[in-house]
Amino acid sequence: MGSKTRKVWVKDLQIGGEAPISVQSMCATRTRDIDATLGQIALLEKAGADLIRIAVDNVMDVEALAEIRKSTKARLVVDLQENFRLADKVAPHVDKMRYNPGHLHHLDPEIPIQQKVEWLVNVAKKNGSALRVGVNCGSVAPDFLERYAKDHVNAIVESAVWHCSLLDKLNFTNYVVSLKDSDPRKVVECNKRFSQRRPDVPIHLGVTEAGLLPDGIIKTRVAFEQLIPRGIGDTLRVSLTVAFHEKDEEIKAGRQILKDIAEGKFISVPDFGKGLNIISCPSCSRVENTAFVELAQEVKRMSSDAKGHDIVIAVMGCRVNGPGETDDADLGLWCGPSSVTLKRKSETLGAYKYDEVLSKLRVELDELIAHKVS
Ligand code: SF4
Repeated sequence: MGSKTRKVWVKDLQIGGEAPISVQSMCATRTRDIDATLGQIALLEKAGADLIRIAVDNVMDVEALAEIRKSTKARLVVDLQENFRLADKVAPHVDKMRYNPGHLHHLDPEIPIQQKVEWLVNVAKKNGSALRVGVNCGSVAPDFLERYAKDHVNAIVESAVWHCSLLDKLNFTNYVVSLKDSDPRKVVECNKRFSQRRPDVPIHLGVTEAGLLPDGIIKTRVAFEQLIPRGIGDTLRVSLTVAFHEKDEEIKAGRQILKDIAEGKFISVPDFGKGLNIISCPSCSRVENTAFVELAQEVKRMSSDAKGHDIVIAVMGCRVNGPGETDDADLGLWCGPSSVTLKRKSETLGAYKYDEVLSKLRVELDELIAHKVS
């Protein structure tokens, strides 16, 4: 193991070069709930987290972040998603910021993407912050989806490469890149292709929405075991759908996978990828109803008799990323404060109460199975 990427510094943590692969996770608590978030940070630190990510969606979250910063020495990363305009407010309080190239076009659409990135880079430079270019399968920038309409993996890779070239032109090299998908095979393909194009850029590895235990760890291992021994990957996150107080499982799983790979212990999953695949997001501060985790578990229980069918069910925790991230699933659920929206591919079927949605999902699932076997 050990890659030949360049060194990126996040406060005192080196990512890339010959540094050990760092392990990170994300707070699932509401950022505004300062005590709960500090509790979550302490839990993750105790488990050995090198970096801890926090979501910031508005000015109230920024104010909370400033308070959180005063009470912890943990290396903090902020996930900007659609709110990249908050960067100058959050940067003084964090060590790294993640922007999603697929979300930059939403705000101020008349301003060119290059200009937005230049602004982000200037904020990062001024505050000594590292950056992550975080490309995600469910939110690839429309330009790249159009240009590489026949190859989704290429759309992800080319978007990442384009942003790297732009950052280089702006004389900013303190960045890492992530290329995530919920399908481990696509994660392997994206990261292999990217690392061939940009062997110098440190990579943050992850299988997005890997889901519930134990499948979430298995999916992640399948991808990491094919990448890490090839020297691909400099930092990682295992994204699991677990209750808030169990978030440290992500760090423990990441460390265990690294240990096993170092010792040559690999898992064999001969039929991997066949049959029912339930993907679910790891949850973050955007979850508006904590019943989300339980719902994901119930979906798994309820659909266990369908495990022989090649069907993807996606369960997402919020209305920010939920609608987009469920588009490719055969059946999708995304959770709002008091209702859950049910989808068939990109078509919305309706919004239902938490205690009603499972029976609606079951009807759709049975129809899908009947259609597949007929
Ligand atoms: S889907 Fe929403 S709740 Fe889930 S991790 Fe993504 S942003 Fe957070």
